Amino acid sequence: MLKVIDLRSDTVTRPSEAMRRIIASAEVGDDVFGDDPTVKHLEQKVSEILGKESALFVPSGTMANQVALRTLCEAGDEVICERKMHIVNYEVASASALLGIMLSPYDGKRGRLSPEQVRLAVRPYNIHHPHTRLVALENTHNGAGGTVLDLDYIASIEKVVKENSLYFYLDGARIWNAAVALEVEPKDIARPFNLVSVCFSKGLGAPVGSAVCGDRMFIDKARRVRQMMGGGMRQVGIIASAALYALKNNFERLKEDHVRAKKLACGLEAIDGVSIKADEVETNIVIFKIDVPVTRFVQNARKMGLLLVPFGPDLVRAVTHLDISDDDVSTAVEIIGKALSDGWKKTSDSR
Ligand SMILES: *Cc1c(COP(=O)(O)O)cnc(C)c1O
Repeated sequence: MLKVIDLRSDTVTRPSEAMRRIIASAEVGDDVFGDDPTVKHLEQKVSEILGKESALFVPSGTMANQVALRTLCEAGDEVICERKMHIVNYEVASASALLGIMLSPYDGKRGRLSPEQVRLAVRPYNIHHPHTRLVALENTHNGAGGTVLDLDYIASIEKVVKENSLYFYLDGARIWNAAVALEVEPKDIARPFNLVSVCFSKGLGAPVGSAVCGDRMFIDKARRVRQMMGGGMRQVGIIASAALYALKNNFERLKEDHVRAKKLACGLEAIDGVSIKADEVETNIVIFKIDVPVTRFVQNARKMGLLLVPFGPDLVRAVTHLDISDDDVSTAVEIIGKALSDGWKKTSDSR
């Protein structure tokens, strides 16, 4: 059987045997009553790692973001953010549809707005205006290609946030990758933010789950918001145990994913018809441009056992993760070369 190499996302990893054993033996209780010991342990552990008072386990990164937005903002408030962020593009417009919050996206460079852009975006008080309440960042920044926001940059935005008495939020679904790339602790990145979300099922390889971390006062409110959204879960130590395992065992190894992403990018650089700058690949996400219709190219690659995702009219995304080896990367480069050359002219109809 053809071995499938799945580079669509770092969410596609499957729990290892060891992780499954941990799951099978997890101690559980009813977490809505607050008595699942494994969830409590995870929330305590992750708040410690993020340097925050408290944390809340939630079923998905999307819910983490929505819980955080609803905790910090009310209907009629405005959030300043970068246009390619997850909350803008991949959450079914839920900030507006469910929360009555207006996202104001601005064009950034490699996932960054300049401090000046943020400063100009803050509205002065006026009865007609939405109330500018929050600045949201994403680190690493998926839409910009897994780019890392460094501590100096974050501090430059924090300054504007403070000057204007705003709240500061980080979508840190891939904060783990950012910390490894910057060679700092996750808490160094998390420090300036009122709330930070993190994900256990991306690079860390747990099957399910995210967390929102921050001051106890905010997390107490977030717990009520999670319940409102239907995110209160019962014997959820079953999955929290996998998240604990993932934190302990799969964090340091993320640097391997970064090395493999770089290797993939270097391989792609040498292929005719692919545009990519390998030195711009900072973590585990590789976005490359091709000169043929993306949908057909992705279908061609799939037939040869390589899964990729279209990321724009002429862009494709490949993500390295726990289940991808060095050999897989070499094979992926070969398949991408083939998917662009042979078979292409025969099937050169449009996307
Ligand atoms: C994946 C992702 C999310 C959402 O996570 P889900 O668990 O898929 O809902 C949020 N933010 C970023 C930056 C992500 O990459």
